[in-house]
Amino acid sequence: MKSSNANSEVILVSGASSGIGKAIASYLSDKGHRVIGTSRSPQTQAASFEWEILDVTSQKSVESCIQRVVSKYSRIDILINNAGLGMISSLEEAPMDNINRVLDTNLLGVIRVTQTVLPIMRMQNKGHIINISSIAGLMGLPYRSIYSASKFAVEGLTESLRTEVRKFGIEVCTLQPGSIETDIKESRATYIPRDSVYNPELTEVENIIDAEVAKGIPAILVAKKIEKLIGKKHLHSKYVVAKPFQKLVSAIRPVIPRSMFEKLLMTHYQIKD
Ligand code: NDP
Repeated sequence: MKSSNANSEVILVSGASSGIGKAIASYLSDKGHRVIGTSRSPQTQAASFEWEILDVTSQKSVESCIQRVVSKYSRIDILINNAGLGMISSLEEAPMDNINRVLDTNLLGVIRVTQTVLPIMRMQNKGHIINISSIAGLMGLPYRSIYSASKFAVEGLTESLRTEVRKFGIEVCTLQPGSIETDIKESRATYIPRDSVYNPELTEVENIIDAEVAKGIPAILVAKKIEKLIGKKHLHSKYVVAKPFQKLVSAIRPVIPRSMFEKLLMTHYQIKD
């Protein structure tokens, strides 16, 4: 753990026990920033950043974590809402428990943490909030309806919030990673019954998604992008970090006919028309 920091700004990262969140917390800390990494798990490995327990699905956990940070540092300058769960399923067969868990984490979790941090940033008259969304928040991806819905909701929430808090010196944006090489598959709320009426297609789509994540770009590239964003006085509303092909797909999405885009997406995922 670092004893002195080149930068006295306090950065809180949710979901820092693995993948993208861990890469962000480690990278920013190694660059001299004061970082508090959080997740539901107790810290098990040595890390260059401080650690706090935070379960974004529990209001009590959110409030007590933020209280601990504020009583120690009296401020929170940068919030990275990163904690999230993947989900693969047909909408028809998706169990309500899995749906609730994903929405509670990916959407309500962002709301709980943001609501608790906003009064602190408002009093400071300064703050950056970066919500880790997904390319799935820009386009409805097949068999990821609930995941896409959660990330579309984060996009909408972010667009609205930007207009409410800019007058308080608070800048808000989403960052949409494409496929990033992490262990997200381990905690996905996937539901694919063997006798699914959507099989074998659904299982094949899962294989394609797994292969894309396995060949995804390293999480450190997201961390490097975040470092650039926290240094900016003003943030645009959206930033994509992805391989050139996925960047291109997200760029053409709003400008080509919807029916053509849908066809391309279905062809990519080998989905029958
Ligand atoms: P990981 O599964 O590696 O990391 C998820 C993190 O979220 C873990 O640290 C986990 O910690 C934490 N988490 C899960 N539930 C909770 C909770 N209730 N409260 C607090 N923390 C929680 O996934 P990634 O790093 O890949 O994903 C990080 C974010 O990036 C997610 O929002 C995801 O949707 C998004 N994303 C990922 C992409 C990818 O290809 N990997 C692509 C696009 C977006 P713990 O279990 O210890 O609580």
